[in-house]
Amino acid sequence: MTTTRFAPSPNGHLHLGHAHAALFARARGTRFLLRIEDIDRGRARPAFEAAIFEDLAWLGLDWERPVRRQSDHFDDYAAALGRLAAAGLLYPCFCTRKEIQAEIARSPAAPHGPEGALYPGICRRLDPAIAAERRARGDGFALRLDMTEATRRAGPLEWRDRGRGLVTARPEAHGDVVLARKDVPTSYHLSVTLDDHLQGVDLVTRGEDLFEASDIHRLLQALLALDVPEWHHHGLIRDPAGRRLAKREGAPTLRRLRADGVTPDEVRRMADTAERQPGSG
Ligand code: GLU
Repeated sequence: MTTTRFAPSPNGHLHLGHAHAALFARARGTRFLLRIEDIDRGRARPAFEAAIFEDLAWLGLDWERPVRRQSDHFDDYAAALGRLAAAGLLYPCFCTRKEIQAEIARSPAAPHGPEGALYPGICRRLDPAIAAERRARGDGFALRLDMTEATRRAGPLEWRDRGRGLVTARPEAHGDVVLARKDVPTSYHLSVTLDDHLQGVDLVTRGEDLFEASDIHRLLQALLALDVPEWHHHGLIRDPAGRRLAKREGAPTLRRLRADGVTPDEVRRMADTAERQPGSG
């Protein structure tokens, strides 16, 4: 038995890229789950969540109930953060984006990871007494993972991708990642990893744009003693100019296609063809 899931964020309507991701997961799972990734309370909307259910049902998909909604489970994320904190692997970071940018600009050799310059470690070096004082004063802070210590404790890690085979994890390439944001008491990395474990997902499917992020998730599994799934990263659907579809750039939504008379079968075919297009994988 294989358990897969589709895990959209309800901050817009689903487009063809989501249909592809959902169908890709469904086709590989005997059990298929749906998870609503709505930790970003400022952007998530109940109307988008309702539309997700409706659009997926229109596509002909069915999923196991109950649906896990991440915003109902902040306690689970807090407990995991508590374990990492107790192990001495987290530190509070009070930096603003501006301060981080300024520090990076001052150090021309600043190391870069898959998503740009790495956090330069300003608050890792902060005197604990000053950090405690700032917390007591009510200054907002994120929680970052001490990556050097975390990777030292976890030792070498690998994971298996069904498309690419055995992958050597390089979480250190991401630096001290944020595990709890200033505005949200968790993060994408922490909640996605913990939920896949709690829900018994043993094949994690996601777009190849998140391929490197899986290294971080593999590390979190080691640190929190979570089950280790297999992964299968899929190609991204691109527009005719080769850009990946994105909500913010006005990719046609499934509702739009449906209103234009496109059938679910045609959407399935479009999603399928796109996976095989050169440049999509
Ligand atoms: N919620 C994430 C997204 O919408 C995907 C979750 C995952 O598969 O990692 O991009």
